[in-house]
Amino acid sequence: MPTEDLQKLSEEVSSCHRCALRNTARGVVFGEGLATSRIVFCGEGPGAEEDRQLRPFVGPAGQLLDKMLAAMGLDRNHTAYILNAVKCRPPDNRTPFPEELLQCRPHLDAQLRLLRPAIVVLLGATAIQSFLGPEARVTRIHGTWHREQDMWLMPTYHPAALLRNPQWKSFAWNDLKQVIDKYREIVDPNHVTIHYPKSTTK
Ligand code: SF4
Repeated sequence: MPTEDLQKLSEEVSSCHRCALRNTARGVVFGEGLATSRIVFCGEGPGAEEDRQLRPFVGPAGQLLDKMLAAMGLDRNHTAYILNAVKCRPPDNRTPFPEELLQCRPHLDAQLRLLRPAIVVLLGATAIQSFLGPEARVTRIHGTWHREQDMWLMPTYHPAALLRNPQWKSFAWNDLKQVIDKYREIVDPNHVTIHYPKSTTK
């Protein structure tokens, strides 16, 4: 059962000390959401509030992510799963080093093997580079579909970047509309969202 398997994996990862991030973080932030979800949102790593609560996306950026999910007709408890590229908070919220990304990647891969999402939305540079390589730049590749194994990957902006640069929100929404289209195409043709109604034209 996906829920039990994810819970078991979460317990295993909670004792990880594979990289130095664990020395300063309060604990491991594994991820949360619907274990059978077909759509996963991947961020960078925990911030201060996430480290305090040991839950992903619970600070200001998380509140914006919740609004983005709501606009897409999704939510973190019933239809989506939320996780990060690294599971422990980098000191002072610095960007994770490439070697930390690599060391944490097996945990991410193990999660994805259990979740088996159809779509993974990559939120920000770190998540994008974890999947698409160190040369990938969000400004260049956001809004373009990529394929990895059985997953469709959509790079877009991190909610924290959107809080700092509200002028990028329209770019992000255009990316997310493509995600809604893909979700309707391959997961649920009847998926509804009042913010992006289905076209009634043929
Ligand atoms: S960031 Fe990942 S690899 Fe590093 S200690 Fe935490 S769980 Fe382990």
